[in-house]
Amino acid sequence: MCGIVGYLGRRQALPIIIKGLKRLEYRGYDSAGIALLNGSLDIVKKKGKVIDLENEIGSKPMDATLGMGHTRWATHGEPNDKNAHPHASTDGKLAIIHNGIIENYASLKKELEKSGHKFLSDTDTEVLIHLIEEIKIQNNCNIEEAVRLALNEVVGAYAIVVLSQDEERTLIAARKGSPLVIGIGEDEFFVASDATPIIEYTNNVTYLNDREMAIIKDGSLVVKNLENIVKTPFIQKLELDLEDIEKGGYAHFMLKEIFEQPKSIRDAMRGRLVLREHQLILSGIDQYLNRFINAERMLLIGCGTSWHAGLIGEYLFEDLARIPTEVEYASEFRYRNPVIRDKDIVIAISQSGETADTLAAIELAKSKGSLIFGVCNAVGSSIARTADAGAYLHAGPEIGVASTKAFTSQVTILAMMAMYLGLKKGTIPLSKYQELLNALDSVPDKVSKILSKADEILEISKSFYQATNFLYLGRGYNFPVALEGALKLKEISYIHAEGYPAAEMKHGPIALIDEEMPVVFIATKDSSYEKVISNIQEVKARKGKVIAIVTEGDTEIKGMADFTFEIPNIADPLVPLLAVVPLQLLSYHIAILRGCNVDQPRNLAKSVTVE
Ligand code: GLU
Repeated sequence: MCGIVGYLGRRQALPIIIKGLKRLEYRGYDSAGIALLNGSLDIVKKKGKVIDLENEIGSKPMDATLGMGHTRWATHGEPNDKNAHPHASTDGKLAIIHNGIIENYASLKKELEKSGHKFLSDTDTEVLIHLIEEIKIQNNCNIEEAVRLALNEVVGAYAIVVLSQDEERTLIAARKGSPLVIGIGEDEFFVASDATPIIEYTNNVTYLNDREMAIIKDGSLVVKNLENIVKTPFIQKLELDLEDIEKGGYAHFMLKEIFEQPKSIRDAMRGRLVLREHQLILSGIDQYLNRFINAERMLLIGCGTSWHAGLIGEYLFEDLARIPTEVEYASEFRYRNPVIRDKDIVIAISQSGETADTLAAIELAKSKGSLIFGVCNAVGSSIARTADAGAYLHAGPEIGVASTKAFTSQVTILAMMAMYLGLKKGTIPLSKYQELLNALDSVPDKVSKILSKADEILEISKSFYQATNFLYLGRGYNFPVALEGALKLKEISYIHAEGYPAAEMKHGPIALIDEEMPVVFIATKDSSYEKVISNIQEVKARKGKVIAIVTEGDTEIKGMADFTFEIPNIADPLVPLLAVVPLQLLSYHIAILRGCNVDQPRNLAKSVTVE
C-alpha cells in the first residue's frame, strides 16, 4: 500500500518519478504527489491517479535532479488533495512521503500542537514531518540526525523518504515494516517500494532492513540503523525483465497474468519437478526434513487469496501427507493468543512477502519455536527473509490487484510439498506419487487448453453481468475454489458474491435462491460428483440459474445447467489449478462488461503492508 519513488542523480527527476509511480500504482491510487528540490521545494499533489497528477503539473517547468513521488492508499484521512503526500513541515523546508501507519501519531500531534505546530491534513504522516522539524530545531542538527531521532520516537510501520531544502543534494530514506529498495546507478540513486521503477536504469539494488536508514548525499550511499551504527549494504543484482512489468499487448495486467498461468505454473515447478527421474526436489523441505516428517501440525497462514490457497493446502496436507492442518487468517491468529507448539510448522503464504499481518503472525510463531516456511513470490521480501526456509513462486511480478497467477503458483507449491511429504512419510504409495507427478506436469498444457476457450466464458458473462448477487458452490478440493471465485468477482466487479461448501447451501444460502440468482457450481468428476448433482437439482428446483464448471465429456450436468464450461480431467488434488481459471475469466469479463477498472479496483491495493 502506497507507492514510493525517490531519485537523486544527473537526469531530470520528474519523468523518472512519474513513470515509477505508474509502475507502483497497483499499491494505491487514492492520490498522487511529487516534491522536487532545486533551490526550493516544489510540491504538487492531487486526489486521484497518477494521470490526474500529471494533468495538474501540466506544462509547469519543473527542473530538478532530486525529487520524490507518492501514490497513496489512504489509512488516515480521506482521499483528497490535502491528505495527499508529500507533506511539508511548518516552515515548508522539509517534505516527506510515507507508506505505513504512525500508530502513536495522535499523542505526538498533541505535543506538537502545544509547541505551536499547525497541521493541514488529517494524516498520521504529516505528524512525522513536524516531529522531524521540531527535533531538528531543538537539537540544531542536520536532517539525517533529525530523522533518526524522530524515528526512535515512532510506533508503527513506515517506509519514508525525506527531503530538506537546506541540504540540497541529500535524500534520506528509512523503513520499518514497509518495503524499500535502493537502486544504485552511475552517479544516481533510486529509492522505491519495489524494484519496478528502478529496473530500466540499473539492476544493482539493496533492500533496506527494518529500522535502517539510507543516507544518500555527496554522491554516495550510507546505510545505518536507528542506533546510529553504520551497516554495509548488501548489493544484489535484480532478476527482473522490463517486459515482466509491462502489459505486453493485453488490455489489462489481470488478463495478461491469467494468460501467463501455463508459464507461471511451469516456473513454479522448474528445477523442482524432475519428471524423467520421477522425483521432486524441494530443498527448503530437505533442509528440515526430520521436522517436516515429525510435524504434529501444519499451520497455514495467509490473507485474502493466499488464505484460499492455504485452504487447498489443508486438503492436500491432510489427504496426501496425513498431517493435521489448520488454516488461519493472519490477522486473527496473531491477536487471539493461539496455541503454537514447537512441533508445529507454520507455512506463511504471501504473494508480496510483505503482508503486515502475515509477517507479524510468523514473528509470533517463531518466538514460540515453530519452524517457519515461506511461500512468497517477491524475492528478498520481508517474509522470505524472516522464514527459516521456503519456496519462491517464481511467478514474475503480479501487478493486477486481483491475484490470479500467484494463486495457482501457491497451490502448485503446496501440492508439491504435500506430495513430497506423502512420499517421504509413506502415506501415499509410490504409484500414486508418480501418477500425481505426471498429472502435475500436465497442468500447464491443460490450463492452456482452458484459456483457448476464454471466449466461451465471455459469452456466459454477457448473460450475467447485470446480476447483483452470485453464489459459488463446490465440495472438497473445489470448496476453496468456490471461495476464490466469489472473492475475484467481488474484488473487481463489485457484485456481491459468496462462496460456500455446496452441501452447506441447505443450511442458509438456499433462502437467497430465486430466478435472479446465478449459482456457479464447480462440479468436476470427483468423489463428490453425485452429491453436487443433487445440489444442482436443489438450485434448479428453485429456479436459480446454474453455471457449472464440469469435466470434459460430462453430459449429465449439461442436461441440467443453464451454462456449462468444460475443463480437462485431472486427479482430484490438482483440480483447483484448473477449475479456478474459468472463474478468474468470468470475473474479469463481468467486470469489463460493467465498465470497472479491473487492474485498480476501488478501495483495494495490492500488497497490504498495513495491519
Ligand atoms: N498512513 C498514510 C496515509 O494515510 C500512508 C498510508 C499507507 O501507506 O497505506 O496517508
